[in-house]
Amino acid sequence: MHHFTYKSGILHAENTPVPDIAAQVGTPFYCYSTATLERHFKVFDEAFGDIDHLTCYAMKANSNQAVIKTLGDIGAGMDIVSGGELKRALAAGIAAEKIIFSGVGKTEIEISDALEAGILCFNVESESELHLISLVATATRKTANISLRINPDVDAKTHAKIATGKAENKFGIPWTRAREVYALAASLPGIQVCGIDLHIGSQIVDLEPYQLAYERIGELVENLRSDGHDIQHVDLGGGLGIPYRQGDNEPPLPREYADVIKKAVGSLGCKIITEPGRLIAGNAGILVARVVHMKHGENKHFAVIDAAMNDLLRPTLYEAHHEVLSVVQPSVNGYTQIVDVVGPVCETGDYIATNRELPLLKQNDLVAIMTAGAYGAVQSGTYNTRALIPEVLVSGDQFAVVRRRMEVKDIIELDQTAPWQ
Ligand SMILES: *Cc1c(COP(=O)(O)O)cnc(C)c1O
Repeated sequence: MHHFTYKSGILHAENTPVPDIAAQVGTPFYCYSTATLERHFKVFDEAFGDIDHLTCYAMKANSNQAVIKTLGDIGAGMDIVSGGELKRALAAGIAAEKIIFSGVGKTEIEISDALEAGILCFNVESESELHLISLVATATRKTANISLRINPDVDAKTHAKIATGKAENKFGIPWTRAREVYALAASLPGIQVCGIDLHIGSQIVDLEPYQLAYERIGELVENLRSDGHDIQHVDLGGGLGIPYRQGDNEPPLPREYADVIKKAVGSLGCKIITEPGRLIAGNAGILVARVVHMKHGENKHFAVIDAAMNDLLRPTLYEAHHEVLSVVQPSVNGYTQIVDVVGPVCETGDYIATNRELPLLKQNDLVAIMTAGAYGAVQSGTYNTRALIPEVLVSGDQFAVVRRRMEVKDIIELDQTAPWQ
């Protein structure tokens, strides 16, 4: 459910006509809906009812200050995966005690910054990382709260590039070695064991992998407690999928997901932490672009738009499907054409959508690429010297540019010729 709908034949973001934004900020741009962000967070968070819980939005999905402030203001904690995200979360006013630090490659400086800030917990992914955290903590006379990220070796049944809970993935500590590594953690100075963590992948649309993984974690908690560890929280990661394609089977509801959690770990008396990203931000954003040229090839029609793979990488990176809508609502019986929607970047992989039946498009028409709020802007780059595009936040009938359009000048200024040139 989202707030991008046609009103009087024109696509609106909440009550704001998309062409009005395009006229003011130019194309392409990302557009986010406040009401959708808030609704998704609330529906997810409220699914846990009065169980002691904390929903830590996985900010790598969309880390714009305006987005994380919107969520922070209604109670979200943050799941971060870098020192950069730590700074961004703190800058948006997120309380350090609501921040969880995930990721396999935390560096000394990142650990030290997070300790200094006083974050809730480090999700530790290796023995090497445990030793480093212990070193940094003792050197600065601090105590690091830690969970171990356990790899439960379950198949999340999602795209290979976003499955993280199989034994062959780089993530986590094998569940079979959990007790041994917890024993190491307990023996190290500056380390306080406080929980257990896992995250099995993203865009998961089947509850069974969750059930298997969470039951495995539930058993582990009991074993770890009998080993003398004080496991106060279970962090169950994120990953719940969202509908990308019209007519897809609806993914499980947050309520159904919460029921799986309650059944698997509800009786442990642990605080429940979750880390949803895509579910919160995915449907809350669109990418708006303009048709630059219609090109009619030998056996294909191409709509060349002004957004490209550097702006939205998901189609070519994950073979992801995004619906493409004409901003002007097509008439029900109007003509359609099968087209590839492509960008101007010099790569065959530069496409947004292939073989789509769309209303007849013409030069300068606006199109909206749907469900682009998560893993969209954050994955963008400047390949082909294309400057980063603006992000706009809508609330009702108002909108604000929440990241300005980068200028090519900004790109050139980062370069420097060598002194001998
Ligand atoms: C990416 C990630 C998430 C969020 O995944 P979504 O599929 O966006 O919900 C949560 N936790 C960790 C550790 C992650 O790496």
